[in-house]
Amino acid sequence: MEHLDALHSLLEADRWCERVRAQRDHLPEQTELAEVEAQLRTLLAALKQAQAVHDPLASAYQAAHQSAASLVERRDRLRKTLDTSTGGARELESITHELDSVTNAAAEAEDVELSLLLELEPAAQQVDVIKGQAQPLVARRADLQATIAGLVETLNEELASLLVDRDTRSRAVPEPWRARYEGAAKRVSGAGAALVDAGRCDGCRIALSPLDLDRFKATVSGELMECPSCGRWLLP
Ligand SMILES: [Zn+2]
Repeated sequence: MEHLDALHSLLEADRWCERVRAQRDHLPEQTELAEVEAQLRTLLAALKQAQAVHDPLASAYQAAHQSAASLVERRDRLRKTLDTSTGGARELESITHELDSVTNAAAEAEDVELSLLLELEPAAQQVDVIKGQAQPLVARRADLQATIAGLVETLNEELASLLVDRDTRSRAVPEPWRARYEGAAKRVSGAGAALVDAGRCDGCRIALSPLDLDRFKATVSGELMECPSCGRWLLP
């Protein structure tokens, strides 16, 4: 029964192809990559939130720092002017008055600067912590992407050579079995034949009725039947 052997051989080749496809499409690295990407998305959302707190504080601190620095500079200049002044009493009084008010303003500005700094520091730390958590994940993501690309390429090469072998085996199946095998293979996107395992078609896993099971037992003669559920050849 040449056609039966040829169909078994083709089924074997298709199952190898299915295994390699399944391996390629369900890489454990792909699962890990999805987890890493989910973690990164969570961290990115947290980073945006932390930056929304940090960034306005940082600009407010910058502004406060500049305004305190210019007041301090003005105060120091006035002190120097006062120390070296040769002017009259009225002029000295006016400088002293200005110095007092600038000194007060500088002290207030420095207080504002300090309180902003105290708020800014934990906010900046929060941003750094999140970036620190993301860094190894970004590196892991790149590793996984490279590994997956390599594995997919290798498995695709393997699949290509299996498909060449599969086509040779397909051409060895005589008609009409070949055409019907290929028709079923196209419909189910896999092997076009199946075996019967514990009363079930092992292609679609659906149990055969007692009547069909009796019919199947008679196919050892070479008169094949198709699975009533999925249409694959049921090979004895
Ligand atoms: Zn079936």
